[in-house]
Amino acid sequence: MPSPRLRFAPSPNGRLHLGHAYSALLNAEIARALHGTVLLRIEDIDPVRCRPELAEALVADLTWLGLTYPEPVWRQSARMSTYRAALASLQARGLIYPCTCTRREIQDAAGGARDPDGAPLYLGTCRGRPVPNEPHAWRLDMARALALCPGPFAYAAFTPGAPEAARNPDPARWGDAVLARKDVPTSYHLAVVLDDAAQGITHVVRGQDLEAATDLHVLLQRLLGLPTPRYHHHGLIRDEAGDKLSKSLRSEALAALRERGVRAAEVRARLGFGEVPPQDQT
Ligand code: GLU
Repeated sequence: MPSPRLRFAPSPNGRLHLGHAYSALLNAEIARALHGTVLLRIEDIDPVRCRPELAEALVADLTWLGLTYPEPVWRQSARMSTYRAALASLQARGLIYPCTCTRREIQDAAGGARDPDGAPLYLGTCRGRPVPNEPHAWRLDMARALALCPGPFAYAAFTPGAPEAARNPDPARWGDAVLARKDVPTSYHLAVVLDDAAQGITHVVRGQDLEAATDLHVLLQRLLGLPTPRYHHHGLIRDEAGDKLSKSLRSEALAALRERGVRAAEVRARLGFGEVPPQDQT
């Protein structure tokens, strides 16, 4: 068995909050239990919302929490050529098609149909059109993908110390998902499966808000010949530890907590990772 490899993969589009802290600390705790390593990956594909100073700030916040990561820290913005190459291979296999639809057009065409994130489901308006001269996204041709990889699909959901559970993902519910945006040659879904594989990630620990996306990720892994890691989708801070936290702790960025004198040990303890130090007890 290769040594377990996990990753914490925040997007530097704002300051880290307690939800991020919880996910990062849980990754560290699970890695310790498995005798594995956690890598830090900065998911900065969005050129508008992600800023270099926020990437630096998140590393500082994690260091303050007591979390350090092996170098090099990967940045997705430096990996565009890899994403482009994967897109080209999917295109050569007829598995993606260009799409020029605006949000408005997608919404109007969808009627009430929704994807698992609650966004309007794309019903294939641009499917079969030639590559246009205007900016376009690239979408997975779900019907073709499923014809090539008909399933059934499966992945292992793990919790340390408990038996693994088999999950049966249903990628079709995502429809023709975006694999490259108009402004960057990838989307979250494509970049995350390529990078998890390239970094040899064996165990993915991330929030329940991404559980449905795993259905699509398993299909992409199959199409691209990549291994499927084991997954643990943790409860979000609002339900898992929220009742133990005061409202202000929940809504403030870690940096703001630090500035008003809250100590890292207290944050860790309030999130369920260790004892509350005596001087912080109320
Ligand atoms: N970058 C994503 C986020 O910040 C997390 C991706 C993942 O863990 O798969 O929500």
